[in-house]
Amino acid sequence: MRVLVVEDDDRVARGLLTALRHAGYEVHRVATAADALKAAPADVVLLDLGLPDRDGLDVLRELRHRPGTAVITVTARGEERERVLGLRAGADDYVVKPFGTSELLARIEAVLRRTRAHRAEPESDGPIQVGALEISASTRAVTLAGAPLSLTRKEFDLLALLAARAGEVVSRDFIVDQVWQAHWEAPSRTLDTHIAALRGKLGEHVKIETVRGVGYRLAG
Ligand code: CA
Repeated sequence: MRVLVVEDDDRVARGLLTALRHAGYEVHRVATAADALKAAPADVVLLDLGLPDRDGLDVLRELRHRPGTAVITVTARGEERERVLGLRAGADDYVVKPFGTSELLARIEAVLRRTRAHRAEPESDGPIQVGALEISASTRAVTLAGAPLSLTRKEFDLLALLAARAGEVVSRDFIVDQVWQAHWEAPSRTLDTHIAALRGKLGEHVKIETVRGVGYRLAG
């Protein structure tokens, strides 16, 4: 597995390179946005959003067009706006400086698992399984811990969307677009109401987490 570290701070970069190599990754480091875009393809890009030559978010947007590359943004503490913009621009995850090596390695493993899972089963027709939840897209049947779960049409659409991206943050805009269609201006509260209803029905089995300022994540 190849990791590209985009980091202009030499001290931070050195620490990252040591930790990642120690964990068995093939690591390449660049210090500028220009070099990041010229670098050979990587499985995971660790992208510092504060780069000297260009906004890191621009780099993120360009990297998003490369299939098979996951991006984890790196921001300083207090840069909540950048983190949120990063997730909106398609980052797979983020870490906040200063972060521990074990946290970083866990996040890299998690995004690699997700990208591998996507590659292994693209557009599978089989049921989606997330923890105790099983959803059949073809029959629109849902079971929770083996028992049938009764959902309204929109609740089903919403749950199926989150379940297909389990573990990932799905933005509110994307959900509203997909579930309510872009031509209908769904009030933001409609989504909140449906999330609340789903949480009630899912109980303790499966959690829908709120990611403030971004959207929701179905935890497996
Ligand atoms: Ca920086």
